[in-house]
Amino acid sequence: MLTFLKRISIILLLTVLTQVGGLIYLLYQAVKIILEKRSRNKMGTLGRIGLYLTLYLVATFLIIPPIAKQFGRVPMPYYATQKSAIKPLTIFTYLLNRHYVKPRLVEVIARTAHTLKKEFPNCQIVYLDANFPFWNGFPLLPHLSHNDGRKLDLAFVYKDAQTLKIRNTSPSFTGYGVNETPRKGEVNQPNICRKKGHWQYSVLEKITPQWNKDKIIVDDAKTKRLIQLLAKQKAVGKIFLEPHLKTRWGLGNYAKIRYHGCHAVRHDDHIHLQL
Ligand SMILES: [Zn+2]
Repeated sequence: MLTFLKRISIILLLTVLTQVGGLIYLLYQAVKIILEKRSRNKMGTLGRIGLYLTLYLVATFLIIPPIAKQFGRVPMPYYATQKSAIKPLTIFTYLLNRHYVKPRLVEVIARTAHTLKKEFPNCQIVYLDANFPFWNGFPLLPHLSHNDGRKLDLAFVYKDAQTLKIRNTSPSFTGYGVNETPRKGEVNQPNICRKKGHWQYSVLEKITPQWNKDKIIVDDAKTKRLIQLLAKQKAVGKIFLEPHLKTRWGLGNYAKIRYHGCHAVRHDDHIHLQL
């Protein structure tokens, strides 16, 4: 009974984290039984972990991408090159299969990265969570709306506080939770939401280490330009940004740049983009 409950929890956890990990776990159980029958030996812990990881990585890099393509989703680029200045903030984004989007969204990002790089040669687009490979309506937690291949989160453009050079990274190791908080005189939407009782609005800030907040700082001009280039594209439907940043960065003319409401989490730590 305990083993059964343990296995169900493992499957649930892997499914929530990676969508396909739970299914691969079932496959792993089957392969393990076959291998143990053949060798008439129980597999050790290392062998079991090795077997699961092998199956998982083969599926992630070789089997899922072509199947996802049949369902209209493709992976975002794994790393930046001379030609394509796009990369994930961390390898976990693609190791966990959280980097799938509609082909049109890749085109939008590729065009934007190209222009951005022309204007600022060292500037790359750093992406965060996108969508899982399959099934419209299957949310990529904690982002409930990232469930159809049409959503993508991007990091702001950051620079080193000392050298002022572009860093192409984020002060937060997940890309979330280190905020560009409202200054004196700016609209303080997080405060408004807190007073209305939306406790979740700023929760990521509370659980994210803030060590790099003063070392890696936002580059206002380049982030503004990045958002402008995105907003100008026809294919882009909405961009979510905290109201004080829309004002601070002089983006008031773009109706596509919206406020998302208190029921979500705050958006002064990243850009949410959707078709
Ligand atoms: Zn988002």
